[in-house]
Amino acid sequence: MHRRLIVPGGLAASLLLAIPASAADSSPGAPGIGDPYYPASGNGGYDTSHYDLRLKYQPATDLLEGTATILATATQNLSRFNLDFGLDVSEVRVNNKKAQFKKEGDQELVITPTALEKGKPLSVVVRYAGKPSELNIGGYTAWHRTPDGGVAAQEPDSAVWWFPSNDHPLDKATYDISVLVPDGTQAISNGVLQSQSSRLGWTRYNWRSNKPQASYLATLAVGKFDITTDKTADGLPILNAYSKDLGDNAGAARASVERTGEVAEWLTEVFGPYPFNALGGYVPNVTSGYALETQTRPFYSPRQFANGANVSVVVHELAHQWYGDSVSVDGWKDIWVNEGFARYSQWLWSEKEGEGTAQELADWVYAQHPADDAFWTVKPGDPGPDKQFDIAIYDRGALTLQALRGEVGDKDFFAILKGWPTDHAYGNAKVGDFVKYAEKVSGKPLADLFDTWLYQPSKPGAPAAAGARIAKADGKHAQPKSWKKIAATNTIHEHDHH
Ligand SMILES: [Zn+2]
Repeated sequence: MHRRLIVPGGLAASLLLAIPASAADSSPGAPGIGDPYYPASGNGGYDTSHYDLRLKYQPATDLLEGTATILATATQNLSRFNLDFGLDVSEVRVNNKKAQFKKEGDQELVITPTALEKGKPLSVVVRYAGKPSELNIGGYTAWHRTPDGGVAAQEPDSAVWWFPSNDHPLDKATYDISVLVPDGTQAISNGVLQSQSSRLGWTRYNWRSNKPQASYLATLAVGKFDITTDKTADGLPILNAYSKDLGDNAGAARASVERTGEVAEWLTEVFGPYPFNALGGYVPNVTSGYALETQTRPFYSPRQFANGANVSVVVHELAHQWYGDSVSVDGWKDIWVNEGFARYSQWLWSEKEGEGTAQELADWVYAQHPADDAFWTVKPGDPGPDKQFDIAIYDRGALTLQALRGEVGDKDFFAILKGWPTDHAYGNAKVGDFVKYAEKVSGKPLADLFDTWLYQPSKPGAPAAAGARIAKADGKHAQPKSWKKIAATNTIHEHDHH
């Protein structure tokens, strides 16, 4: 709490000028935002609103030089505060004044400015340089070095490798990302490419993401790309980028990601208005296997397309733009609010394409896992950090939605799916918030259903309305046509966690 000094009239003004903020009243901002899954993620004491990143990157050496200007508001009287960052910092200024700083551990940048008052705006300028590929935290790096550049796209952390931030989805902000790269090389990031210009052998790309964005959803890809551009029927710019070096996966990657506009148009019918200023996707020449819902422009590993085109992965990552990006987790335990819905959207796409209904996919998944399968011990509503991206979050998570659909009927179910992203647009939500919302829309008590499907470490009984079909499902169901393509996306969030 901020306590006011009470001093007689005339004296007060001069005193307040002389003493910037009461040091006695100030305390350090917490080194974590309070997420029990990742105690070091994010920080306390301030709230960011905008990041302006001005970067220069050398593909030949992996040297990244940057100036980050972060706009924030102090949420307490601050004697010092942290940013999450791993590269070497040469200077920090807070409200234009040089501030003391030091690194603590692998990823805490501790900044000691002159005391800051609660409620006052902050501008923090951080100058830095380093080779992201050399930053190793706990034997792990989120930075992909490619033959022609580098890529930042990881969950739950990637920002630490390329810009200082309050690195947790609870503190979202808008982004301007400007990147200088040698002529002939492209820099891909989030949102709209506002402009690009070349001078003396270097090209600058200016990207803008103008709606709140979580730090892990900011992305950077430098390399040699083929770029395609288009517009949706609503006039939104689509920009896709493909490494020139995708080999045999090049055709399948394009045959999938070029359908971004079509998929987004269909998702808009299911989830409501698209929440952002741009659409697209990019496929860099990385060796990883996963994909990630980086905001407005998902990241796809080429290996997603090793067996031919897979539109299902595009459906998954674009569904996240509503479920995960616009409406973000409150804490990482709420991961079901992202992944259960992104997986279910793949089932709905299959239903629309006539390759198996969501019910048939639910029957199939339910039958694949006998009661003693460890699959049922994972609690999608609070899986723990080690199981945060377990397949059960996806498949049991989607089964939960099919159980809900059976319970409330199609009309209310689709009203819930469409209403939620608007109701919570650009915010954060907990699993419990969704339960309350579904109860409000349907007028039915649903706490027991969600408790059974999201929190009990055992195989639920067949859900009421869909029960008849699921009960006789075990072992007898034909594999839905879409199953192989959906199962091929099971690696999408297979990350090396630290
Ligand atoms: Zn996902």
